[in-house]
Amino acid sequence: MSFQMKDKDAYQRLNYLYQAAHCVLSQNPENVELARFYCFTQKTIARRLVLRQDPSVKRTLCKKCCSLLVPGVTASTRQRRKKHKARFTVVRCLSCGQSKTLLNDPDHRLWVDRPEAQQQQQPQQQQQQQQQKQKQHQKQPDPSVKKQPKDKKRDRSAASSKPEDAQGSAAT
Ligand SMILES: [Zn+2]
Repeated sequence: MSFQMKDKDAYQRLNYLYQAAHCVLSQNPENVELARFYCFTQKTIARRLVLRQDPSVKRTLCKKCCSLLVPGVTASTRQRRKKHKARFTVVRCLSCGQSKTLLNDPDHRLWVDRPEAQQQQQPQQQQQQQQQKQKQHQKQPDPSVKKQPKDKKRDRSAASSKPEDAQGSAAT
């Protein structure tokens, strides 16, 4: 069982572009345009090949203008509170003003990372696989049944033609 990663080259390119954007901003914080170009390219590749990027990466990219959100350089971060209970971190892009609100909860887990999601996904996949197998089994007999008479007819015709040939060859 060798695990072959699909679109490995594309993921490596995404990684390279993301690191390049960070590198550009660390060397020259005013060069936002180049970092945005790298992130825009990264986003385009991911969209074309339908690759899922890690949430930690997505949270550092502006949805609107695709610039890399580095707190204090290209983005501002503020703590907000709702109804005196839930606390949020609001990351605001300094280029376009688009903000994203992230819940402050150390125990918060994404749905994909939860065990319930994997438990629910697996039975569905198994059911789908079983259904596909059943469909295949249902489909498979039909062509074989249809083919068998044809083959028999062919065999009969072939068998009937062969003796004639043999007779003909015997007669000559
Ligand atoms: Zn932005």
